[in-house]
Amino acid sequence: MSDPVDPVASAYLNSAVALAVENVARGGGPFGAVVVTAEGRIYGGTNRVTADNDPTAHAEVVAIRRACAELGTFDLTGSTLYASCEPCPLCVAASLWARVDAIVFAADRHDADRAGFDDTRFHEHFDGVAPAIPITAGSADDPLAPFAAWAEHPGRIDY
Ligand SMILES: [Zn+2]
Repeated sequence: MSDPVDPVASAYLNSAVALAVENVARGGGPFGAVVVTAEGRIYGGTNRVTADNDPTAHAEVVAIRRACAELGTFDLTGSTLYASCEPCPLCVAASLWARVDAIVFAADRHDADRAGFDDTRFHEHFDGVAPAIPITAGSADDPLAPFAAWAEHPGRIDY
C-alpha cells in the first residue's frame, strides 16, 4: 500500500502537525507546514487566514514565504514541503512557483472535509490534472490531532 515509513519524513511531518496544534491554541486554523531545504534548514508556517484576513495565508504558503524571505531567494529548489494536511491547489501551485521538489502530507483532503473545510470541493476543480511534483502521504504519529484540537476549541473562527 505505502512505502516503508521514512523516519526523517515522519519527524518533519510531526513538526508540521505540532505547529498546527499550537496554532489552534492561538485561535488560528488547524494547519501547519515546514519547508526543509536541501541543506537541512527548516522554516515553519501556520495558517493565518483569520489572523490576517488573508484567504491565501495557508500554512504552506506562509512557510514558503518565510523560507524565501529568510534565505533571500524566490527559488527553493531542492526543498521538500511537509504539511500537516494534504495541500490544496493554491498550495500546490505556490510550491511549483517556489520550485519545491516534493510535498509530503499527514492528514488528507477527506480528513479536512470532515473537519469542516472545503478542500475536497477545491480539489475536484482540478481533478484529472497530473501533479508536476511528487505529492505523497507520509506517516505522522497523530495526523488528526490538529482537527481534534480545532473541534474542541471554543473560540475558533470557522472559515
Ligand atoms: Zn492551501
